[in-house]
Amino acid sequence: MTQPAAHERTAGDFATRVGLALADDNLRGALDRASGLFGVRRQAGLATLENADAVRDAARAGRLRAIAHLAEYLEQFEKKLLANGVQVHWADTPEEANRIVERIAAATHTKRVVKSKSMVSEETHLNAALERAGVEVVETDLGEYIVQLANDRPSHIIAPIIHMTRQDVGRVMERQLRVPYSDDTQVLAATARRRLRDEFLRADMGITGANFGVVETGSICLVTNEGNGRMVTTLPRIHVAMMGIEKLVPTLADLDRCLQVLARSATGQKLTVYTTMIRGPRAPGDPDGPGEVHVVLLDNGRSRILAGETAEILACIRCGACLNACPVYRTIGGHAYGDTYQGPVGAILTPGLRGLQEWRALPDASSLCGACRDVCPVRLDIPRMLLTLRAAAARERPEPRSLAAAMKAYAWVATRPRVYRAVVRAGGWWLRRLARNGWIRKAPGLAGGWTRSRDLRVPAARTFQQRWRAWQRRRGRAA
Ligand code: SF4
Repeated sequence: MTQPAAHERTAGDFATRVGLALADDNLRGALDRASGLFGVRRQAGLATLENADAVRDAARAGRLRAIAHLAEYLEQFEKKLLANGVQVHWADTPEEANRIVERIAAATHTKRVVKSKSMVSEETHLNAALERAGVEVVETDLGEYIVQLANDRPSHIIAPIIHMTRQDVGRVMERQLRVPYSDDTQVLAATARRRLRDEFLRADMGITGANFGVVETGSICLVTNEGNGRMVTTLPRIHVAMMGIEKLVPTLADLDRCLQVLARSATGQKLTVYTTMIRGPRAPGDPDGPGEVHVVLLDNGRSRILAGETAEILACIRCGACLNACPVYRTIGGHAYGDTYQGPVGAILTPGLRGLQEWRALPDASSLCGACRDVCPVRLDIPRMLLTLRAAAARERPEPRSLAAAMKAYAWVATRPRVYRAVVRAGGWWLRRLARNGWIRKAPGLAGGWTRSRDLRVPAARTFQQRWRAWQRRRGRAA
């Protein structure tokens, strides 16, 4: 099948996007390779950490403390930022956050912006807003740069082009940058580096996200592997950091614990290559740095999440490990989730930020296997939160009557052992008659939903209960 275009992969309802993803063999191959590799690296990375469990517990405690006292910590953080010479802005909505950045750009005569990776700016669609205001924006994280060139969307929290092969990247560069085609990763990286060097030097403003905001010192912590974060925050005259209000850690000691588990869980590294702490604008005598630093703190539904039963998700440190471990993400990829955050964390955050009813399909897209909870460095109980959202969605808008009646009928049958056994026997007999070579390719009626995208294994000739009773009888005779 031809690969669907970027706008097709992220459009339509959840079922449509999943259908497209399932039909895309290239995507599944890329996901299998990349997420498998991330999983292996994560394990190797954590093996290098002494008392890994204790460090994870401590990191979790720090983040939960920040969330539990968020209002006080935000006040303290603002005071420290102001004392450091940083200008602080508060935004309730994505539109407000974008308007703030547009105003800063206008006031500082900014014509060109370089950006380091920022999920919050994806959330607010900042690039499009700035471009509408006549400001040129260039992404400088390699993955995000390719996404921008391809007019695509990121599909993984830490690996934005996990859905692309190097051949795809080569074709995008050939088309958009008019360079000879290559699929050699060294050549591709060198091409991007050459282009980006000029952009860094020409830019008036650098925009970043923030991996953490440290309350104790009023500093912003940024982690990158390519060094672009440092260029973005030191070369242009203005630096704007956009962050969600939940990204705080109370102290530098809390930050240390989070950093120890973040890189290991994300890429398997002991520490990300560049860990940058930003305290404020250039001070007299400093050799470099921006003349102005602004921090934009975005709420966009986080306060609502904080007040609800899934507040724990705000402690996420965006390592991406739960995506790599999730059998659903590994099958459908990130675009099918339809918004900024993907995988298990996205299935909780997106309905929280954007509204449960519109996004109620996401919490259902989980087998509840618990792999996400096992790998999460801060031990977030993702399955519990998914169940909470499912229950809330059902309370707010009950399922169709037909489904409610079917569940009622099932409950009636399942609580009467004799009836249950008879139904299972009859159902098994019927399904076995439909099977060819052990598989049912097309089931009739309601069961047809299952076989639309996969085959159904024919039920065993004898049920577990029948085998169990036979085994007990044999054991009784032998005794
Ligand atoms: S929920 Fe946990 S595993 Fe998933 S991205 Fe957040 S911190 Fe990482």
